[in-house]
Order: sequence, then structure tokens, then C-alpha cells
Amino acid sequence: MNQGYKLQNTNLEFNSSVILPNIPINSNNWGYSKSRPYSQISYNKRIENEILNNLPENVFREIFPFLEEVYLKTGECIYQPEDVINYLYFPETAIISDFQILEDGKTLEVAMIGKEGIVGINSVFNSHSSINWLQVSIFGKAWRIDAKTFHNQFVQNGVLQEVVFDYINSYIAQISQKVICNSHHSVEERLCCWLLMISDRCGQTNLPLTQEQIAGFLGVHRPSVTLITQSLREKGIINYLRGKISILDKAKLEFSACDCYSNTKII
Ligand SMILES: [Zn+2]
Repeated sequence: MNQGYKLQNTNLEFNSSVILPNIPINSNNWGYSKSRPYSQISYNKRIENEILNNLPENVFREIFPFLEEVYLKTGECIYQPEDVINYLYFPETAIISDFQILEDGKTLEVAMIGKEGIVGINSVFNSHSSINWLQVSIFGKAWRIDAKTFHNQFVQNGVLQEVVFDYINSYIAQISQKVICNSHHSVEERLCCWLLMISDRCGQTNLPLTQEQIAGFLGVHRPSVTLITQSLREKGIINYLRGKISILDKAKLEFSACDCYSNTKII
């Protein structure tokens, strides 16, 4: 699937029975576009992805010439199951959701990846194909690097291995928490938790999301989401207007969320 500019045109070709969240491709300027390689901009520019940002300078210098700045559209599929992983992505403001496809074709988000993480990380273990469905849930900026190039750096550099393993550990923790969350916590708790996780990763309290999209991420029916968002709005916790959810009172939203939020908090 990951064929650069073709991404936006092929996100639903895998299986017509698959019911992904109905995320419209934005028509604004957040198109998927390869831009400047990092070597052409100021070396001291601060990268907001925490993996890249936290690398020791000597390690970062080894990989920064290979980084490319990309903008990802909401709804774009990065990888379908069994797609060859050509690039690893380091999101900054973009958020990518990791979906499992259920037997009835519906989807369930099992993890999300934002500025704290890496997409396509299983390629460092010589697993060259994607396991799940990875789709952009919030548009924004990311950096990408050729998977073979990153792998070459990974096998030679112990510090990079340590950073990657730390992230994989936290990613597994997030998935494990999701398993508990999806089976033991109420839809309202999960919805509140999910909004907080999204907000933390993109750094925004105004989130471009429809109720239908949220239902798809949570694997629930839309009427459930409608009832919950109405209730949260009446309590002054969120507002909802024309495909945008605004978090008005984060403290109350945290109080309404399950412990999964605090257990996997990234900030
Ligand atoms: Zn939970």
C-alpha cells in the first residue's frame, strides 16, 4: 500500500467488505507530499517527534540526512495488512491509528501513534510486511525514513536499539491496556479516554472528528456515541459542532475516563 503519492487513492482497495471509520479525505492543503529532506533545513530545527527528539546528537546526525518531511491526510491508509513496509513514520502532529479488522468487517482501534512513536517499527525485526491496518486519524506532519536505511542504522547502533525497544515496550503496554479497556470499560469511559489520548498526541483541544468516526475507532454503534457526546456537552465537558469536538474541561474529562488514560499517558 505504501507507495508514496498513491496512498490517498488506494486506501479502500484491500477488501470491499471492510468497514473502516468513514473518515473523509480533507480537501485542504494537508496533502500527502514529499517535501524537503531534513538536510536542507536548519540542523537545529527542533523535531517534535519524541523518538527523534530524544536521540543523542551523534545518533541523530547519522539518520537526519535520510529523513523526509511529509504531510498526511485524515483518512489515508499508510499500510494495509501484508503491505510491504517501505518507510517508517515519525509523526509530529499527525496521528495514525492501528486497526484490527473484525470478522464482520468492522474495525477496532488497538493503538494510536502520535508524536511519541513510530509507525512501521516491526520492520526492524526483519518483518517486512504490516500486520494491521494503519490509517491516519488526524491529519498533520510526520517524518519518514526508508525502512532499509533505518534498519541498517538500527543493527549498528546500540543506543538507537535501546530507544526503539523502549518505544516498543510502551506500544505493547498501550495495546495490552486497550484489550482491558475494550472488554471491561464502559463506552463512555472509553470515549473520554480516547479523546484525551488523541488530544495529547496532536496538542489540540479542538479535534476534527465526527461522531461516526469516533464510533468506528471505538468499534461501537453511532447512536451510543451520540448519547454520550450529548451528555458530556450538557455537563460542559465538551462541545460538539459540525464535525469538530472541543474539549472544554480536561479535568472533568479525565474524571469521566477510565484509568487506561493515566496508565498510558504520554505527557
Ligand atoms: Zn479503559
